Amino acid sequence: MRYYSTNRQVPDVTLAEALLQGQASDRGLFLPEHFPQLTHEDLLNLVDLSYPEIAYQILRRFTQGIFDDETVLRLCEDAYTYDIPLEHVADRQYVMRLDQGPTASFKDFAACMMARWMGQLMAHESGELVILTATSGDTGSAVAHAYLGVDRVHVVILFPIEEVSDRQRRQMTTLGGNVTTIGIEGKFDDGQAMVKQAFADPELKDIRLTSANSINIGRLLPQAVYYFYAYVRLANVKAGEEVIFSVPSGNFGDMMGGVIARQMGLPIQKFIIATNANDEVPNFLRTGQYDPVIPSRVCISNAMNVGHPSNLARLIDIYGGQMDEKGKLITQPDMDRLRKDIFAVSINDDQTRATIRSAYQQHKLILEPHGAVGWAGLQDYITKESVPSDMLCISLETAHPAKFPEEIQALVGIEPATPPSLEGLEERDEEYPVFSINYEPFRDFLRKQFASSPTASVE
Ligand SMILES: *Cc1c(COP(=O)(O)O)cnc(C)c1O
Repeated sequence: MRYYSTNRQVPDVTLAEALLQGQASDRGLFLPEHFPQLTHEDLLNLVDLSYPEIAYQILRRFTQGIFDDETVLRLCEDAYTYDIPLEHVADRQYVMRLDQGPTASFKDFAACMMARWMGQLMAHESGELVILTATSGDTGSAVAHAYLGVDRVHVVILFPIEEVSDRQRRQMTTLGGNVTTIGIEGKFDDGQAMVKQAFADPELKDIRLTSANSINIGRLLPQAVYYFYAYVRLANVKAGEEVIFSVPSGNFGDMMGGVIARQMGLPIQKFIIATNANDEVPNFLRTGQYDPVIPSRVCISNAMNVGHPSNLARLIDIYGGQMDEKGKLITQPDMDRLRKDIFAVSINDDQTRATIRSAYQQHKLILEPHGAVGWAGLQDYITKESVPSDMLCISLETAHPAKFPEEIQALVGIEPATPPSLEGLEERDEEYPVFSINYEPFRDFLRKQFASSPTASVE
């Protein structure tokens, strides 16, 4: 299986190269040249399998030629040791809780697998790899935990100091070891821009840099798995029943996992993509014109404060269009087909809070802000389109409510129980330098830390 860049200016690469490069050198994003197909029979065969076994069945179709099947299965069994609750709410509406992993957000699903893949690859490579990642809240901790202690890999995380919760920050800054966390006096987009500038910087060319943001294909493929899992657990697979998924979205990596699952043959009738007030994608679907939100808007669903989602280029590619890394539409995608497959809606903070309250009052359903955006989007669609009550609908809850205790306490008057993964954070020592959004000091820091010959400055 080969992987091509959405900008189409570089030759196709293998999965190993795509993983280690992160972004293609023409600044496009990698996508598989075709999507392996699962037949109805294949889907039926997934029904009785455990999550790690389903992950193996999906992922081995992408890793062939890079890792042997035995290794893929072992890594799946090693990574996926936690529950994926499918909580029944009403009619045939469910919430899939992707919040039981080591850092209590859905990002654990992909970060854990990508780190294992890269660890395998680095065992056969010389030198060291530096993973640079900007985070809007949860990527940082998921990536940091996944790579902690992986040989010859360093992780550098940039986070906006004003936009992450205390718990989110402490999950990254208390690790030490091969993990360096940097606070940025700016927004997620500023951190993202600094990371992108570093990737393109000739002065850093002697440092082997790569990304663990969802521009890396390794962050997407494992996210196709839970769509299959939820489907085979809840649907009438035999009858080929269709399903609706609602996905709270920021950088659109989570949704792209679902799109990949659909391309592979999962009968997804519709995606609801629910954003917070950063409504550039709902606007794009409505008007066909794309305008990033700059600067991005600060919302309580902080991990979705994204004004120009990097994965949009992939979605547009799959729908026959082309968008460059700056968000310029080079070829318009098939808008009719996009609108048929996707219902996009923006949910503001007031609606998010009202949803957290009403979900608890009506159903005893405990949602945190991101999951509430997804749930509100689903309810909006069900009402607008008069979706019949026997339609299977699954809304994704992407973080554990205990990551946002203040908000939930204030809205519904309960303190969400803290999962073991979040316990004891307050007592650990924190360490992180703080940088402005000027690029140069950040670059000098990277050179000092990681360049093999830090004195050979070009200045
Ligand atoms: C990252 C994140 C999202 C958004 O996911 P994308 O893949 O960026 O769309 C939603 N919820 C939570 C809790 C997150 O951490």
